[in-house]
Amino acid sequence: DHITSTNAAPDDEAVDRAIRPKRLGDYIGQQAVRDQLEIFVHAAKARSEALDHVLVFGPPGLGKTTLAHIIAHELGVNLRQTSGPVIDRPGDLAALLTNLEPGDVLFVDEIHRLSAVVEEVLYPAMEDQQIDIMVGEGPAARSIKLDLPPFTLVGATTRAGLLTSPLRDRFGIVQRLEYYSVTELTTIVNRSANLLALAIDEGGATEIARRARGTPRIANRLLRRVRDYAEVRADGHISQAVAAAAMDMLKVDNSGFDIQDRRLLLAILEKFDGGPVGVESLAAAIGEERGTIEDVIEPYLIQQGFLHRTPRGRMATRSAYAHFDRPAPPRIAD
Ligand code: ADP
Repeated sequence: DHITSTNAAPDDEAVDRAIRPKRLGDYIGQQAVRDQLEIFVHAAKARSEALDHVLVFGPPGLGKTTLAHIIAHELGVNLRQTSGPVIDRPGDLAALLTNLEPGDVLFVDEIHRLSAVVEEVLYPAMEDQQIDIMVGEGPAARSIKLDLPPFTLVGATTRAGLLTSPLRDRFGIVQRLEYYSVTELTTIVNRSANLLALAIDEGGATEIARRARGTPRIANRLLRRVRDYAEVRADGHISQAVAAAAMDMLKVDNSGFDIQDRRLLLAILEKFDGGPVGVESLAAAIGEERGTIEDVIEPYLIQQGFLHRTPRGRMATRSAYAHFDRPAPPRIAD
């Protein structure tokens, strides 16, 4: 698992819990999302109703799970957590739903990976607070309706387009998380350093933020690795120079690209002459899964203007050529 992996590494869990924001007020950035949720949560509480179902989408590590926990906390209810691939059978979901307390939040991560039969259970649960369950087998089998307590489903997914439309249509609140600005990530790094009692100055925090791929999870992980470096190679203080040296060692480059990013861009430049190239060919060329390219690698490269998605495939931009100090052919766009 390399340094800018967006997967949560198990050894980081205790630290993660310590620095994960618990209230909307501590959730940095995503201003529009925060403003809206503040109103919706407030209104639901004032009416003593469950909050409408919430769909949160965005690349890994941007704060979907954190937001689900914050919503439950702000509503003053429990959060039950599960994920799409974990729920095998309709009965598993029925058990979860029937055990909820009134007003609870059920958080389903990777909700796009629910199987079709499990998803069917969700529709009446979300719409009418009811589930149909089958009892008995064979000719004696019959379906009975069970009433559920009012509850809020918070679903998370990397791309809204991965959801079936009947599921997507049942969410009253849909929020998209954006990559964070360097300023926002600097605030996040400073906040985490503070909670972990680390010595860091503004230059050090900004350097980490600049290379964090717009992603809080990566910023926090880089901070921990830079701290190790600062303790062993310097006096523990995280300055700009120490942070830069540590991240160079970790092969996170000046634009915050990691090995995967560089491999993808270089493949387009060298093997496909700048593109356009289809995602399947690209996946084969760099030995990555198509899903990883689409959900993790390319959204950031596109947002940063290093990659274009065209109907004929992915194309490198002039910035991508410049990044590797190579002249761009004239047909390459900005
Ligand atoms: P996701 O569920 O989208 O993969 P997480 O909610 O697990 O992402 O966020 C990863 C980490 O980043 C969290 O542990 C949290 O500490 C930090 N984080 C995420 N969003 C924010 C934010 N808006 N402000 C501060 N820290 C954040």
